[in-house]
Amino acid sequence: MAQVQRMSRLMVKTLRDDPADAETLNHKLLVRAGYVRRTAAGIWTWLPLGKKVYENVARVVREEMDAIGGQEVLLPALLPKEPYEASGRYEEYGDLLFRLKDRKGSDYLLGPTHEEIFTQVVKDQCASYKDLPVILYQIQTKYRDEARPRAGVLRGREFQMKDSYSFDTTDEGLAESYALHRAAYQRIFERLGLDYRIVSAISGAMGGSASEEFLAPAAAGEDTFVDCPACDYAANTEAVTFALKPVEGAEHPAAQELDTPDTPTIETLAEHLGVPASATLKNLLVKVDGEIVAVGVPGDREVDLGKLAEHLAPAEVELVTAEDFADRPDLVRGYVGPQGLKVRYLADPRVAPGTAWITGANKPDTHAKDVVCGRDFEVDQYLDVVVVEEGDPCPACGAGLKIGRAIEIGHIFQLGRKYADTFQLDVLGQNGKPVRVTMGSYGIGVSRAVAALVEQSADDKGLCWPKEVAPADVHVVAAGKAVQTELALDVAEKLNAAGVRVLVDDRAGVSPGVKFTDAELIGIPQILVAGRRSAEGVLELKDRRTGEREELTVAEAIARLSA
Ligand code: ATP
Ligand code: MG
Repeated sequence: MAQVQRMSRLMVKTLRDDPADAETLNHKLLVRAGYVRRTAAGIWTWLPLGKKVYENVARVVREEMDAIGGQEVLLPALLPKEPYEASGRYEEYGDLLFRLKDRKGSDYLLGPTHEEIFTQVVKDQCASYKDLPVILYQIQTKYRDEARPRAGVLRGREFQMKDSYSFDTTDEGLAESYALHRAAYQRIFERLGLDYRIVSAISGAMGGSASEEFLAPAAAGEDTFVDCPACDYAANTEAVTFALKPVEGAEHPAAQELDTPDTPTIETLAEHLGVPASATLKNLLVKVDGEIVAVGVPGDREVDLGKLAEHLAPAEVELVTAEDFADRPDLVRGYVGPQGLKVRYLADPRVAPGTAWITGANKPDTHAKDVVCGRDFEVDQYLDVVVVEEGDPCPACGAGLKIGRAIEIGHIFQLGRKYADTFQLDVLGQNGKPVRVTMGSYGIGVSRAVAALVEQSADDKGLCWPKEVAPADVHVVAAGKAVQTELALDVAEKLNAAGVRVLVDDRAGVSPGVKFTDAELIGIPQILVAGRRSAEGVLELKDRRTGEREELTVAEAIARLSA
């Protein structure tokens, strides 16, 4: 049977002040409440209370992974470099990888994630299609030499991850393994009590659901995402696409040139003409695999080069340089317009057919107005490449989008045959011929989930755990002398016998005020106080989150808390 945890014996030292270097809630509160201790930058020690919460998160993850047929394994963290050289990641990871040598001078690394090694395991263990599909997972320590290890256990250099890998012989099989993980992740985050959104991790152009992230909205988060206040649409900021809506029926006068000396930028042009930047069309020149192309966006919007590169991948996107203009008199820097342009023209969907613009006239110091899309110029390809802004219309329902910050708590990814190709992972198919295996990889930051829970649930008094992850169900406080302590210990034993997880504050010589403050800081969901009416056997039950209080007899308290 579980034991009652006694504060008098528990190694927990609470602090009244935030650690000097702490910027985020989880760092401040987990340290102050005695859950974790910083050992070095991005390297943490889990103290007894913290270890309990960590294990509770890990247990929920394990139960749901087991429920989809996952088999738990444990791979080493210390790894030979050869498999990572084979996949190219030994170089690709760059400074993120912790590299080391053994006494003989051979190269090793500390695993940042384990696709390579799992592929080798399956190659060794599975020979036939009958051995598949298989889902393998581990909850294990990962190492990444992050550039800015900050934000407490949110971003560690050593951290705990649940990583799983699915192995299938067909694309349909992979889609099914992916769907199983997606559903398991939803159950996990619901059980943990985390508020989360699922967003497509890559832009629509690269193809839908092959990779999705689970984001927990929180101010401390390092990811930005858009959230629709009116419907359930949520997306990575890079993945938002604006719908193309042609404008019909509008009459515009013929395009006309304007004398606009010294106006090579949108700001100088808008000021010179006294028009808003949104009336102008900005044309950015870039090189796509060496070919110069122009990209048109409304003058008040920024081009997201990352988004552009992602849309055009695998083509290489670069900005043009002065040399690129040298033998191109047709491209007048600062005065480029899409009309009569001799390069390919890409445009944002906001530059829709029927819209009229003020834009460059392809002559020095000259612009043109009433340049109409579809009449005076054509768009070769529409791409959503502008930086999304607060209030942009939701692609699903049209309401104004909100931009928020979030913590990436999980990531699911259809890898396909990349690693199977590298390691020639084949199994014998039904027809006796070898089939190449297709893989998925799926991660949850287990230690990061603890941080995300704190960021979402803490209040001004301290931690405030959802029941499933709390280090105990009830925190019994002996607020007084011998009578109170006796009652507290008695009710603690009875609750424990009824299967309730109990922490009892039986410390002698600690004032009730200090014990109450500590109980709020430690954040166990129910606080049961043996106080003034202890001699009559009456206790006070307080809900940590709502602060609601109620007087109960011992029998009532046990019935209530064990329900
Ligand atoms: P990030 O963008 O935050 O660096 P990532 O995309 O590199 O994360 P993945 O490689 O997808 O992360 O790892 C799977 C999961 O592991 C992430 O969803 C996250 O929850 C967790 N994780 C990644 N890096 C860290 C870290 N440094 N500390 C704690 N958890 C992490
Ligand atoms: Mg990721």
